[in-house]
Amino acid sequence: MRAVVTGGAGFIGSHLCERLLAVGYEVVCVDNFLTGRPENVAHLTERAEFQVMKRDVVHGLEIDGPVDAVLHFASPASPADYLRHPLATLRVGAEGTRHALELATAKKARLVLASTSETYGDPQVHPQPESYWGHVNPVGPRSCYDEAKRYAEAMTMAYRRERDTDAGIVRIFNTFGPRMRFGDGRVVPTLIRQALDGAPMTVTGDGSQTRSLCYVDDLVDGVLRMLDGHIGGPVNLGNPHEVTMLELAHWIRELTGSHSETVLVPLPADDPKRRRPDIALAESELGWQPRTPVEEGLLRTIEWFDEHTESAGALARVPAPASPAGQVAGGPRPSAVSEAGLGVS
Ligand code: NAD
Repeated sequence: MRAVVTGGAGFIGSHLCERLLAVGYEVVCVDNFLTGRPENVAHLTERAEFQVMKRDVVHGLEIDGPVDAVLHFASPASPADYLRHPLATLRVGAEGTRHALELATAKKARLVLASTSETYGDPQVHPQPESYWGHVNPVGPRSCYDEAKRYAEAMTMAYRRERDTDAGIVRIFNTFGPRMRFGDGRVVPTLIRQALDGAPMTVTGDGSQTRSLCYVDDLVDGVLRMLDGHIGGPVNLGNPHEVTMLELAHWIRELTGSHSETVLVPLPADDPKRRRPDIALAESELGWQPRTPVEEGLLRTIEWFDEHTESAGALARVPAPASPAGQVAGGPRPSAVSEAGLGVS
């Protein structure tokens, strides 16, 4: 079996490449390194079953030989990245997605499109089921990403209907883990970096807005389940456990043993106030739910960041908690972290 992963040198893409190799795929990683890094897949390049192609999928995606799976993950994903590259974001969502769909159609391969919870915009329905059509500002600063992904979804469904392409859509909610970039502007790496540096931890708005955070290993598991089937979706993949931004900051401070203070800064334009996936469809269609408690994922991420900074080793080490089997991954509120023996402050 041979898989093509576009955006394979990015945060999620690199974990996906690793997992596909682990389950026996040959993997072709296609990336232009706009927001990804060669280091993310450097440890895989020794393997004969792994190949990296530096290519911009906006300009085409020709792959020689058989292809059984196309995982289309190429796109800037953090707000800082897509606000810096709005045209590249629109083009990879439009032309890049068309090229990925053409490849899958020609090779009779299964395609999984990485879409996003941003297709729901600033949602007026909570939690968000796939049947909700969203509340998106089509001309706001974030529209380059939201509308690119909505267009990519529409094109994926059109290929299914008109060309019989075996394509499916996953709508990914906030995912975190090792190999996120410190400077990518997303909340988890930003707060971890600030906590490790002892700098003020910046929380937007009044800090009451929520996100639900899924650990990357769980997300990759859901993507592989989507790849194994033939459904079109879209299917939400994310952790339904909701956390406010103030709680997250407090939690990261406890887990790092940092004494950083929290400061409130203005909310960015069109920033969604609440986000939480309804994962009933993923549970029934894919038999999937996240397994990693958020605090365990945060610890693994903090340790990775600690090992990959100049001030490596500053972090007080704490034991990772065991995963309770058969339970949707959530975790205690920050005030309970110390009681669970995880607090280091
Ligand atoms: P990332 O920025 O780390 O990875 C994206 C990768 O795509 C990078 O390696 C980048 O260089 C590559 N890329 C961008 N444009 C390209 C092009 N034209 N040709 C070839 N490669 C290109 O982001 P990520 O967080 O790993 O996100 C991966 C995918 O998952 C994206 O499609 C994103 O929209 C989606 N997603 C991620 C999240 C999340 O929380 N991380 C949430 C929702 C959706």
